[in-house]
Amino acid sequence: MSEDPRRRVPATDAVLSNSRVIGAALGLHARIVAATVRRVQQRVRVGGLAPDGVIEEVVSALSARESPPVLNATGVIVHTNLGRSPLGDGARQALEDVSGYAAVEYAVGSGSRGPRGSTVSQDLLDRVPGAEDALVVNNGAAALLLAVLALPGEVLLARGEMVEIGDGFRLHEMMAGAGRPVSEVGAANRVHVRDYAAAITEDTGCVLKVHPSNYRLQGYTSTVGVPELAALEVPVVIDLGSGLLEPHSALPDEPDARTALAQGAALVTFSTDKLLGGPQGGVVLGRADLVQRARRHPLARAMRADKLTLVSLSATLRSAQEPPTQQMLALGISDLEPRLIRLRDVAGGELVEADSVIGGGGAPGVVIPSLALAFPEVVARHLRHGLPVVIARVHRGRCLVDLRCIPEHEDRALAAALKSAVAL
Ligand SMILES: *Cc1c(COP(=O)(O)O)cnc(C)c1O
Repeated sequence: MSEDPRRRVPATDAVLSNSRVIGAALGLHARIVAATVRRVQQRVRVGGLAPDGVIEEVVSALSARESPPVLNATGVIVHTNLGRSPLGDGARQALEDVSGYAAVEYAVGSGSRGPRGSTVSQDLLDRVPGAEDALVVNNGAAALLLAVLALPGEVLLARGEMVEIGDGFRLHEMMAGAGRPVSEVGAANRVHVRDYAAAITEDTGCVLKVHPSNYRLQGYTSTVGVPELAALEVPVVIDLGSGLLEPHSALPDEPDARTALAQGAALVTFSTDKLLGGPQGGVVLGRADLVQRARRHPLARAMRADKLTLVSLSATLRSAQEPPTQQMLALGISDLEPRLIRLRDVAGGELVEADSVIGGGGAPGVVIPSLALAFPEVVARHLRHGLPVVIARVHRGRCLVDLRCIPEHEDRALAAALKSAVAL
């Protein structure tokens, strides 16, 4: 007969007094530590873990962080799973400065309550001439929702622009959920201005144009431009998605706020953590009366941006330096090659051509010629379990390490991680 596993479970006191556990538990709430120990003990009871593995497991569970910092070696610049845009130095400093009390909604001069987010709104207006007012909320989806809510009535949207943005969420279902049903216009591949004109009734609140930011319509297709939509007597809302404030020479097909407003859009909305290169956030920009309606909508309070967003977005907009996202986009082969050769000298691998992409919600189909070091596929797994954590790209059975999204000052740390991963 086998021994009753319950009798072999290390006692709680014994685990808690182990010096390694004490070290890992330093500064952690006592209930978190106790619950972790109980969970590991339970795994021994059900036979999922050997009794002599308890200390190791508790230490590792206590040391695990929910979102460890990673080096992004995928070459995907706006990687939604890796937190989209990295912040620039100014934005990081601003976060640090505002972590305590800060005059977020307080006019220091007069000693009275002040308007929330007025600084960042002014920054947006300074950066986008032609915009009359700006509102910052939690994310791009919230910005779109408030823009549509500011225009009571039915929303007209082209069938080819019924976007699913990720994780199963669809923008038209979101609007319907908030009481703004979407009426589909045109066919999946083609829509004409006459389709919109025919669909407009006295119940129409706005014409919405959504940038297909994660797919491309190719072949026998047609869409209607902003100027023609703006001629249609109903306010036009443009969901730009990726947040270019002005045209970008490397991304000719990506719409931008300044152009859309100049072409007659009443409101534009976008995310602030995609090509804009800031923290998670969303912006409603455009006609003053409509932005004010969005600001005063009862649901706006549920989408309010926090102080961390407001100050780090403001710092991103004010900085004379391009945010990291834009800098990475601009790197050429000649910037990357010497770094890769130094890395190869330390860790081996083969220099190969690779494609970087913009990623999550921006410039679908745009490929940026790049270089990478190639290793056997298994190296990608070792890199994920190393320190620092490195996320590489697995492509056709190989592990590719692309330096585009890795700051140069991390090259040494990367080289060390790569050397150990290759040696395993
Ligand atoms: C990314 C995106 C959204 C959603 O923005 P979040 O900031 O992720 O909420 C909405 N519309 C378009 C076109 C997008 O690209």
